[in-house]
Amino acid sequence: MSDHAPTQDQVQPGEERHEFGAEVGRLLDLVVHALYSEREIFLRELVANAADASDRRRFEALTDSAKALPDGAKVRIHPDKDARLLTISDDGIGMSREELARNLGTIARSGTRAFGQDMAKLENAKPEERPSLIGQFGVGFYAAFMIADRVEVTSRRVGEDKAWRWSSEGQGSYTLAPAERDLPGTDIVLHVKTDADEFLEPYRLETIVRKWADHITWPITIVRDGN
Ligand code: ADP
Ligand code: MG
Repeated sequence: MSDHAPTQDQVQPGEERHEFGAEVGRLLDLVVHALYSEREIFLRELVANAADASDRRRFEALTDSAKALPDGAKVRIHPDKDARLLTISDDGIGMSREELARNLGTIARSGTRAFGQDMAKLENAKPEERPSLIGQFGVGFYAAFMIADRVEVTSRRVGEDKAWRWSSEGQGSYTLAPAERDLPGTDIVLHVKTDADEFLEPYRLETIVRKWADHITWPITIVRDGN
């Protein structure tokens, strides 16, 4: 049918839809359903990723000064209450189209070598024990789906002209499409769930950053609208 209204499941022009690897589905399911009591750790995971990406860029810049970080490079946390969006941005290494697909669509990454063991432990644990287990393992990027019903990642790899957008509702598939970004780096845009309003409050975000991101060596700014 060509005349029906577009739905969220439809692929827009220039967009390609991909299925998640089976193990991603398993992780997403656990993250979203088993960890309710410690949802705030999503911010620890995303800020850690932003800092890691900034470290990687600094490292690559040692041998290629064209990749140097901009002055005042930092991690920005921007809640927009009206739009119900929470954006975490960095000036880090960024991701190419292929890196977006590999890093956010599969569990083939080094940080998750013990993934199978960790998952089995989690699945076998009593529900009330799961949050503290997750605290130990770190579930990484997918923790975003605890508080967001859609996550959009716009990223431009250092050294590339083009940016790409990865987008998903955390339910089996994601899309990739060309995007715009003036400078290299990454924006993680969280469409905040209706029961997660607290994560649009600057003071709440600040408390979480103090608690979980104390050790991060990059400056972290909470962007407040209107100042
Ligand atoms: P881990 O950090 O343990 O590798 P994550 O799930 O947190 O696992 O992230 C998966 C991968 O996605 C990272 O290893 C990294 O390659 C990539 N990634 C995530 N966030 C960013 C970011 N802000 N900038 C660049 N790459 C990122
Ligand atoms: Mg991580």
